[in-house]
Amino acid sequence: MHGVEIAFAGRSNVGKSSLVNALTRHSALARVSNTPGRTQELLFFSANTTLTLVDMPGYGYAAAPKHKVKAWSALIAAYLQGRANLARVYVLVDARHGLKSSDQPALDALGEAAVSHQIVLTKADAVGPGAIEDCLASIHTALAKRPAAFPEILVTSARSGAGISELRAAIARLLSERSH
Ligand code: GDP
Repeated sequence: MHGVEIAFAGRSNVGKSSLVNALTRHSALARVSNTPGRTQELLFFSANTTLTLVDMPGYGYAAAPKHKVKAWSALIAAYLQGRANLARVYVLVDARHGLKSSDQPALDALGEAAVSHQIVLTKADAVGPGAIEDCLASIHTALAKRPAAFPEILVTSARSGAGISELRAAIARLLSERSH
């Protein structure tokens, strides 16, 4: 049996749990292991593949002391090490706020580990189309300096459902690329 892992990272409160819930809402196969304060894993089984969705701990509390940032980076570096089955890390960014300085250590860690990663905007329902375009433009500029980051940005809202089926389809594509 082949296994494929997809992880979700992002600042605390970015809407990560809501997005993962929206993605898995219609799946009868979800098995949730919810241990507070730890990485949460959702496992999906099909005939010849296991899909694991990994909900990484949120980072970037407004007043996070330096040692906390270091601890997160160390945890992530350890997690990313030798993760051959990890097909992609989705880095969630709140559409209202765009990329923040606290996203930089996470993007650095992913780039250094050469893990395929992609930005997903969350809470798209909370801003107008013009603001979304501005947000996308500034993230595209920032990503130009990050070759390990996938250039396409997905726009989602767990609340309105926008972009959820597209993200689900993207995950299904990663799964089929990896499972044969
Ligand atoms: P997490 O800390 O990243 O897991 O974030 P949560 O999923 O717990 O959401 C944090 C806050 O953002 C909550 O108050 C949610 O109601 C809100 N939120 C989550 N998703 C959306 C969304 O798609 N649109 C809007 N407007 N708010 C959202």
